[in-house]
Amino acid sequence: MYKQDIKKRIEKLRELINHHDRQYYVESRPDISDQEYDRLMRELKELEALHPELITPDSPTQRVGGEALEGFKTVEHRVPMLSMDNTYSADEIMEFDKRVRKNLEIDKIDYVVELKIDGVSISLLYENGKFIQGATRGDGVKGDDVTVNLKTIKSLPLKLEPVRGVKIPGTFEARGEIYLSSRMFLKINKEKEKNNEEPFANPRNAAAGSLKLLDSAMVAERQLDMWIYGLGYVEGSVFKAQSEALGFLKGAGFRVNPRIKKCRSINEVIEYCKEWEHKKDSLEYDIDGMVIKVDPFAHQRALGHTSKSPRWMISYKFPAEQKETILEDIIVQVGRTGTLTPVAVLKPIELSGSTVSRATLHNQDEVARKDIRIGDHVIIEKAGEIIPQVVEAIKSKRKGRERKFSMPGKCPVCGSEVKEVKGEVALRCENLACAAQLKERVKHFASRQAMDIEGMGDAIAAQLVDRGMIKDYGDIYYLKRADLAGLERMAEKSASNLIDAIEKSKRNTLNRLVFGLGIRHVGIRAAWILSARFGSIDKIASAEIEGFEAINEIGPVMAESIYNFFRTKENKKVIEKLKKAEVNVKGRAHPAPQGYGAGSAERKALEGKTFVVTGALENFSRQDAEELIRQNGGNASSSVSKKTDFLVTGKDPGFKYDKAKKLGVKIIREEEFKKLIQK
Ligand SMILES: [Zn+2]
Repeated sequence: MYKQDIKKRIEKLRELINHHDRQYYVESRPDISDQEYDRLMRELKELEALHPELITPDSPTQRVGGEALEGFKTVEHRVPMLSMDNTYSADEIMEFDKRVRKNLEIDKIDYVVELKIDGVSISLLYENGKFIQGATRGDGVKGDDVTVNLKTIKSLPLKLEPVRGVKIPGTFEARGEIYLSSRMFLKINKEKEKNNEEPFANPRNAAAGSLKLLDSAMVAERQLDMWIYGLGYVEGSVFKAQSEALGFLKGAGFRVNPRIKKCRSINEVIEYCKEWEHKKDSLEYDIDGMVIKVDPFAHQRALGHTSKSPRWMISYKFPAEQKETILEDIIVQVGRTGTLTPVAVLKPIELSGSTVSRATLHNQDEVARKDIRIGDHVIIEKAGEIIPQVVEAIKSKRKGRERKFSMPGKCPVCGSEVKEVKGEVALRCENLACAAQLKERVKHFASRQAMDIEGMGDAIAAQLVDRGMIKDYGDIYYLKRADLAGLERMAEKSASNLIDAIEKSKRNTLNRLVFGLGIRHVGIRAAWILSARFGSIDKIASAEIEGFEAINEIGPVMAESIYNFFRTKENKKVIEKLKKAEVNVKGRAHPAPQGYGAGSAERKALEGKTFVVTGALENFSRQDAEELIRQNGGNASSSVSKKTDFLVTGKDPGFKYDKAKKLGVKIIREEEFKKLIQK
């Protein structure tokens, strides 16, 4: 074939494949067999392999991923991705409508109502009909460039179809939501469980986690999908209404949700919201509410937005799903520090897409306050979608056989006396050898932020304790490959890997070990401070209470806790074991938690600067971020003022963001913050 012909054939193949992708992934109406499709794809791949100079970024072969990223570039959105105000009742929706009509001084208004997909918001940039770049919402102003990963989503059009009667804008942003189907969510979690990994809490977390994977081949396996619901920046104002924009998007090949409805009155809006509140479980993906938008763009522009959210759009959030079931028993769990927690054992019931058979009851006071009894009919709901809670007992359904519950006087696992802790509601088992606590301590010791022993997950730690192979975490270093190979769910290879991981952990920095010891009240930062101050386990162990109290950041309660820890016979023995196994117990120069910021006395990158942290950060809790600021010599404040030098913003920053903007405070994102503390 002549080069010109090859180029033509390649273009033809791409066109065909794009068409079939669209039929399959967007329209759900495939018109060729999988074999025929594979043949086209194979031919294209072969031709491209022979002529790599003809490969273009919008070729369907470029979807498969495989490119490993080192990180994500930051992208500024051309039009900010604003957040939305929420409503929770029909009355509030009515009020929204009233406000809108009053503002516009009109009586009648059209709305577009969409399903609120519980996924990850993204913005897709197209130039001359081609997909150029995709970014996460980030803080609304800037997000992460996830182009390579987005390309693995087959329903994302790399090249747009012509739309009759519309000139496709030269440059525009399509906005939408990336999500994971319930089926894929379950599949991924099953696999995670098999590998002894922490499962994702919900499909949204799974989608967000997948989108941020650095290996796009892995992203492709996750089979993410998307719904496109609108436009961001558009070159030249081409469209007159949201409904029209949706029609264009659909025509151009985007996956637009067929359940989007145009409503002629607010009553129709409310009716539609209520309809989906009842039908939401019939979908193969999660929705957590509805989105209501004023349809005409002219009206949207006239209404404008507050600093935080548009005035022409609002969400209606479905109430947390509640269900009735029977509380069959109350059991008591023992945590790492020995805290006893009552847990409700429920008659299993489907709730918000998963089977619920346990719910936390927090503590004895909570059980008493709600007067929850064993045998009660109870109402449960999922708070924050993850942990089910008992809302109340239905007292009218009592038959007189229900039993009151009280916390046991002895630890349910080891039988030791439990003690009340001064100033806390909790009861605690203080037996250090208690198996329940031991499992938790081993897990903590091996956890990523402590000794980071990969492969020592829940199931393995539990087996090691139950089989008596580990009596304390010092024993981890005396495990043999043969011991591990005998465990359930432990392949030969993973036994070797675990031994290697254990060996490697011996060289960890001191602060990791100190944190891993699990001294009550000693978190990552305190562990770091102790390591930096004392420089070895021996010096920490022999210090007097006053020695700890003299440190600014350590209060009397923590000081006492540290002191007591190293005076306890059992703990002394464990530390001897660690030393004998040649675990590193010394060293002054250690990176701070997770490699962020050394913060030693010599290097104070943030000296004299005042920071406020707002919104949800991805890599740190707010407390951790504030700790790092202090470690690096800066001040962490909770409110924005003229004295604030930097506002560090995470997701959903809130009013502090507005205030900082007003006062001209420098606003930085997490990425920049990380760079500052790494200096
Ligand atoms: Zn116990």
